[in-house]
Amino acid sequence: MPNKVNILIVEDEKNIGSFMATTLKNNDYKVLECQTGSEALSITTSHCPDLILLDLGLPDIDGLTVLKSIRNWSSVPIIIISARTLETEKVEALDSGADDYITKPFGTSELLARIRTALRHSTKKHPNNTFNAKGLTIDFDKRLVRVFEKDIHLTQIEFKLVSLLAQNAGKVLTYDFMITSIWGPYADKNNQILRVNMANIRRKIEMNPGDPQYIFTEVGVGYRMLEEDLSPT
Ligand code: CA
Repeated sequence: MPNKVNILIVEDEKNIGSFMATTLKNNDYKVLECQTGSEALSITTSHCPDLILLDLGLPDIDGLTVLKSIRNWSSVPIIIISARTLETEKVEALDSGADDYITKPFGTSELLARIRTALRHSTKKHPNNTFNAKGLTIDFDKRLVRVFEKDIHLTQIEFKLVSLLAQNAGKVLTYDFMITSIWGPYADKNNQILRVNMANIRRKIEMNPGDPQYIFTEVGVGYRMLEEDLSPT
């Protein structure tokens, strides 16, 4: 019997905390719970959870400060739980090392899907160095992109962008993160060049660029690649 995955829930709203705890327990996760940022820090140190669900609005230390503090010494997957719809806060959390975020109110299946994705990323390897999702194939070594067996011709920058998204499939990447990864830390943080490249990529790989199947827009935040097809390993 393998050890259960241990998830820490940091949430001061009791009904939301217990909703998450019940959902996770019913899905065979082991659950730790606390209501404050200081408890979150001490439990993370003492219990080494496999994943943390972290509310941003906590009574003592702000969730963002908790996140940054944990990131100084741990790469444990952290999903931000936020009632706030401010995009800038989500962006700041992601750029400070959060793996993902989920906005209240959310349902059971969304919560579980985000957890599975974040856990997979912490262990993930690409077998044969390829990515496959719904007919989209990327061969990172040969630098080939195919959609349903049809070769897609991408520019070097476009290929780098697609690869970056695929290496992080299922996870939202912020505009700044993508620009820095591709164009370097001194690049102009103006999103225009990124938008143009993303539009070109969509035109090439999406059946209907207005209703994308592979690369989704997270409005005001960034882009997210469809999760890879699960293959038996
Ligand atoms: Ca709260």
